[in-house]
Amino acid sequence: MPKEETKNTLGIVIKRRPFKEYDRAVVLYTRDFGKLNLVVRGAERPASKLAGHIEPFSLIEAMIIKGRRDYLGAARSLDSRLKVGQDLNRLFYAGAALSVLDKLTKEGEPDAELFFLTESFLEYLDRRVADLSKEKGEILLAAFVWKVMAELGYAPRLETCLVCAKTLSEEDNRFDALKGGIVCPACADRLFQERHEVLPRISWEAIKILRFLSAHDFYQIARLALSDELVREVAALTERFKTITFEQ
Ligand SMILES: [Zn+2]
Repeated sequence: MPKEETKNTLGIVIKRRPFKEYDRAVVLYTRDFGKLNLVVRGAERPASKLAGHIEPFSLIEAMIIKGRRDYLGAARSLDSRLKVGQDLNRLFYAGAALSVLDKLTKEGEPDAELFFLTESFLEYLDRRVADLSKEKGEILLAAFVWKVMAELGYAPRLETCLVCAKTLSEEDNRFDALKGGIVCPACADRLFQERHEVLPRISWEAIKILRFLSAHDFYQIARLALSDELVREVAALTERFKTITFEQ
Protein backbone atom coordinates (compact mmCIF):
# COMPACT_ATOMS: atom_id res chain seq x y z
CA MET A 1 0.00 0.00 0.00
CA PRO A 2 1.47 3.44 -0.88
CA LYS A 3 2.43 5.63 2.03
CA GLU A 4 -0.17 8.34 2.66
CA GLU A 5 0.95 11.86 1.96
CA THR A 6 0.61 14.00 5.09
CA LYS A 7 1.32 17.59 6.05
CA ASN A 8 1.38 19.28 9.44
CA THR A 9 0.43 22.82 10.29
CA LEU A 10 -1.37 25.06 12.76
CA GLY A 11 -4.96 25.97 12.05
CA ILE A 12 -7.86 28.00 13.39
CA VAL A 13 -11.24 26.27 13.25
CA ILE A 14 -13.59 28.54 11.28
CA LYS A 15 -16.62 26.24 11.26
CA ARG A 16 -17.72 22.63 11.18
CA ARG A 17 -20.80 20.75 10.14
CA PRO A 18 -22.00 17.16 9.92
CA PHE A 19 -20.93 15.45 6.71
CA LYS A 20 -22.34 12.12 5.57
CA GLU A 21 -23.47 9.80 8.30
CA TYR A 22 -20.63 9.77 10.82
CA ASP A 23 -18.19 12.35 9.49
CA ARG A 24 -17.81 16.07 9.84
CA ALA A 25 -16.58 18.70 7.43
CA VAL A 26 -14.37 21.33 8.99
CA VAL A 27 -13.05 24.60 7.57
CA LEU A 28 -9.62 25.52 8.90
CA TYR A 29 -7.57 28.64 8.28
CA THR A 30 -4.05 27.26 8.39
CA ARG A 31 -0.73 29.02 8.84
CA ASP A 32 0.95 27.29 5.90
CA PHE A 33 -1.75 26.42 3.37
CA GLY A 34 -4.44 29.06 3.79
CA LYS A 35 -8.06 28.01 4.07
CA LEU A 36 -8.78 24.28 3.84
CA ASN A 37 -11.98 22.29 3.72
CA LEU A 38 -11.35 18.95 5.40
CA VAL A 39 -13.28 15.85 6.27
CA VAL A 40 -13.03 14.55 9.82
CA ARG A 41 -13.81 10.87 9.61
CA GLY A 42 -15.98 9.40 12.32
CA ALA A 43 -16.29 12.70 14.20
CA GLU A 44 -20.00 12.15 14.78
CA ARG A 45 -19.36 8.86 16.58
CA PRO A 46 -19.44 9.10 20.39
CA ALA A 47 -15.96 7.58 20.74
CA SER A 48 -14.30 10.03 18.33
CA LYS A 49 -11.00 11.33 19.67
CA LEU A 50 -10.93 14.17 17.17
CA ALA A 51 -14.35 15.68 17.75
CA GLY A 52 -13.39 17.58 20.91
CA HIS A 53 -10.46 19.27 19.17
CA ILE A 54 -12.37 20.88 16.33
CA GLU A 55 -14.55 23.41 18.09
CA PRO A 56 -14.88 26.81 16.36
CA PHE A 57 -12.29 29.46 17.41
CA SER A 58 -9.82 26.77 18.58
CA LEU A 59 -6.17 26.89 17.60
CA ILE A 60 -5.14 23.37 16.69
CA GLU A 61 -2.12 21.44 15.57
CA ALA A 62 -3.35 19.54 12.55
CA MET A 63 -2.10 16.59 10.54
CA ILE A 64 -3.73 16.63 7.13
CA ILE A 65 -3.85 13.55 4.94
CA LYS A 66 -4.18 13.87 1.21
CA GLY A 67 -6.97 11.92 -0.36
CA ARG A 68 -9.71 12.18 -2.91
CA ARG A 69 -10.95 14.68 -0.34
CA ASP A 70 -8.24 15.78 2.09
CA TYR A 71 -9.01 14.81 5.64
CA LEU A 72 -7.87 15.62 9.13
CA GLY A 73 -5.82 12.66 10.32
CA ALA A 74 -4.99 13.98 13.77
CA ALA A 75 -5.62 17.16 15.72
CA ARG A 76 -4.55 18.52 19.05
CA SER A 77 -6.14 21.60 20.52
CA LEU A 78 -3.50 24.12 21.63
CA ASP A 79 -5.99 26.72 22.78
CA SER A 80 -9.73 26.15 22.88
CA ARG A 81 -10.49 29.85 23.55
CA LEU A 82 -13.15 29.04 26.09
CA LYS A 83 -13.46 32.65 27.22
CA VAL A 84 -14.61 33.74 23.76
CA GLY A 85 -17.96 32.17 24.67
CA GLN A 86 -18.12 33.97 27.99
CA ASP A 87 -20.26 36.86 26.87
CA LEU A 88 -22.60 37.17 23.91
CA ASN A 89 -20.83 40.11 22.29
CA ARG A 90 -17.49 38.34 22.35
CA LEU A 91 -19.06 35.27 20.79
CA PHE A 92 -20.88 37.34 18.19
CA TYR A 93 -17.85 39.38 17.08
CA ALA A 94 -15.50 36.39 17.07
CA GLY A 95 -18.02 34.58 14.83
CA ALA A 96 -18.43 37.66 12.62
CA ALA A 97 -14.65 37.94 12.14
CA LEU A 98 -14.31 34.28 11.18
CA SER A 99 -17.19 34.61 8.77
CA VAL A 100 -15.47 37.63 7.12
CA LEU A 101 -12.25 35.63 6.84
CA ASP A 102 -14.18 32.73 5.32
CA LYS A 103 -15.99 34.96 2.81
CA LEU A 104 -12.98 36.99 1.69
CA THR A 105 -10.51 34.14 1.21
CA LYS A 106 -10.30 31.33 -1.32
CA GLU A 107 -9.28 27.79 -0.56
CA GLY A 108 -5.62 26.84 -0.71
CA GLU A 109 -4.10 30.34 -1.02
CA PRO A 110 -1.47 30.51 1.73
CA ASP A 111 -1.22 33.78 3.66
CA ALA A 112 0.49 33.43 7.03
CA GLU A 113 -0.23 37.10 7.83
CA LEU A 114 -3.98 36.45 7.70
CA PHE A 115 -3.50 33.51 10.04
CA PHE A 116 -1.57 35.63 12.56
CA LEU A 117 -4.05 38.50 12.24
CA THR A 118 -6.98 36.20 13.05
CA GLU A 119 -4.97 34.64 15.86
CA SER A 120 -4.34 38.04 17.43
CA PHE A 121 -8.02 39.01 17.13
CA LEU A 122 -9.22 35.82 18.86
CA GLU A 123 -6.43 36.02 21.42
CA TYR A 124 -7.47 39.56 22.31
CA LEU A 125 -11.10 38.45 22.84
CA ASP A 126 -10.04 35.40 24.83
CA ARG A 127 -7.72 37.32 27.16
CA ARG A 128 -10.09 40.19 27.76
CA VAL A 129 -11.24 40.30 31.36
CA ALA A 130 -14.29 42.57 31.16
CA ASP A 131 -17.37 41.85 29.06
CA LEU A 132 -17.21 43.31 25.56
CA SER A 133 -19.58 46.18 24.80
CA LYS A 134 -21.32 46.32 21.43
CA GLU A 135 -19.43 49.53 20.50
CA LYS A 136 -16.02 47.97 21.25
CA GLY A 137 -17.04 44.86 19.33
CA GLU A 138 -18.07 46.94 16.31
CA ILE A 139 -14.83 48.92 16.19
CA LEU A 140 -12.67 45.81 16.69
CA LEU A 141 -14.54 44.00 13.93
CA ALA A 142 -14.16 47.04 11.63
CA ALA A 143 -10.42 47.02 12.38
CA PHE A 144 -10.25 43.32 11.58
CA VAL A 145 -12.02 43.86 8.25
CA TRP A 146 -9.74 46.77 7.21
CA LYS A 147 -6.65 44.77 8.16
CA VAL A 148 -7.81 41.68 6.25
CA MET A 149 -8.64 43.81 3.21
CA ALA A 150 -5.26 45.57 3.37
CA GLU A 151 -3.53 42.18 3.52
CA LEU A 152 -5.52 41.09 0.44
CA GLY A 153 -4.31 44.18 -1.43
CA TYR A 154 -7.25 46.52 -0.87
CA ALA A 155 -5.78 49.07 1.52
CA PRO A 156 -7.75 52.31 1.03
CA ARG A 157 -5.99 55.60 0.35
CA LEU A 158 -6.56 57.76 3.40
CA GLU A 159 -3.98 60.57 3.10
CA THR A 160 -4.66 62.16 -0.27
CA CYS A 161 -7.65 62.73 -2.58
CA LEU A 162 -8.17 59.85 -5.01
CA VAL A 163 -8.80 62.24 -7.89
CA CYS A 164 -6.46 65.24 -7.51
CA ALA A 165 -3.94 63.74 -5.01
CA LYS A 166 -4.19 66.81 -2.77
CA THR A 167 -3.43 66.13 0.91
CA LEU A 168 -6.79 65.80 2.68
CA SER A 169 -7.85 68.35 5.25
CA GLU A 170 -10.68 68.83 7.66
CA GLU A 171 -13.52 69.61 5.24
CA ASP A 172 -16.53 67.96 3.66
CA ASN A 173 -14.76 64.85 2.29
CA ARG A 174 -16.45 61.92 0.55
CA PHE A 175 -15.78 58.20 0.60
CA ASP A 176 -15.44 56.29 -2.66
CA ALA A 177 -15.88 52.63 -1.69
CA LEU A 178 -15.44 51.37 -5.24
CA LYS A 179 -12.06 53.02 -5.81
CA GLY A 180 -11.03 52.61 -2.18
CA GLY A 181 -10.35 56.04 -0.77
CA ILE A 182 -11.36 59.62 -0.06
CA VAL A 183 -12.40 62.32 -2.50
CA CYS A 184 -11.95 66.01 -1.57
CA PRO A 185 -15.00 68.38 -1.76
CA ALA A 186 -13.84 70.14 -4.96
CA CYS A 187 -13.41 66.84 -6.80
CA ALA A 188 -16.67 65.48 -5.35
CA ASP A 189 -18.52 68.55 -6.74
CA ARG A 190 -16.95 68.03 -10.15
CA LEU A 191 -17.86 64.30 -10.16
CA PHE A 192 -21.42 65.28 -9.34
CA GLN A 193 -21.62 67.91 -12.11
CA GLU A 194 -19.94 65.79 -14.75
CA ARG A 195 -21.29 62.34 -13.99
CA HIS A 196 -24.02 62.86 -11.39
CA GLU A 197 -21.97 60.65 -9.13
CA VAL A 198 -22.99 60.99 -5.48
CA LEU A 199 -20.51 59.80 -2.88
CA PRO A 200 -21.38 59.47 0.82
CA ARG A 201 -19.81 61.87 3.31
CA ILE A 202 -17.01 60.77 5.62
CA SER A 203 -16.27 62.82 8.72
CA TRP A 204 -12.77 63.98 9.55
CA GLU A 205 -12.96 61.98 12.79
CA ALA A 206 -13.80 58.81 10.85
CA ILE A 207 -10.83 59.36 8.49
CA LYS A 208 -8.55 59.68 11.54
CA ILE A 209 -10.02 56.50 13.06
CA LEU A 210 -9.52 54.53 9.83
CA ARG A 211 -5.87 55.64 9.80
CA PHE A 212 -5.55 54.58 13.43
CA LEU A 213 -7.13 51.15 12.82
CA SER A 214 -4.67 50.23 10.11
CA ALA A 215 -1.65 51.26 12.16
CA HIS A 216 -2.48 49.78 15.59
CA ASP A 217 -3.12 46.40 17.19
CA PHE A 218 -6.39 45.21 18.73
CA TYR A 219 -5.31 46.03 22.29
CA GLN A 220 -4.58 49.65 21.33
CA ILE A 221 -7.80 49.89 19.31
CA ALA A 222 -9.88 48.58 22.22
CA ARG A 223 -8.58 51.44 24.38
CA LEU A 224 -10.08 54.10 22.10
CA ALA A 225 -12.99 55.99 23.64
CA LEU A 226 -15.34 56.75 20.74
CA SER A 227 -18.84 58.18 20.54
CA ASP A 228 -21.61 55.78 19.46
CA GLU A 229 -22.18 57.96 16.42
CA LEU A 230 -18.57 57.66 15.25
CA VAL A 231 -18.59 53.88 15.81
CA ARG A 232 -21.75 53.63 13.70
CA GLU A 233 -20.19 55.74 10.94
CA VAL A 234 -17.00 53.65 10.83
CA ALA A 235 -18.95 50.37 10.94
CA ALA A 236 -21.21 51.48 8.07
CA LEU A 237 -18.23 52.65 5.93
CA THR A 238 -16.47 49.36 6.60
CA GLU A 239 -19.48 47.30 5.59
CA ARG A 240 -19.90 49.38 2.43
CA PHE A 241 -16.24 49.08 1.46
CA LYS A 242 -16.23 45.30 2.05
CA THR A 243 -19.46 44.70 0.16
CA ILE A 244 -18.59 46.88 -2.82
CA THR A 245 -15.06 45.49 -3.11
CA PHE A 246 -15.98 41.82 -2.86
CA GLU A 247 -19.44 41.58 -4.28
CA GLN A 248 -18.88 43.24 -7.65
ZN1 LIG B 1 -9.47 66.19 -5.02
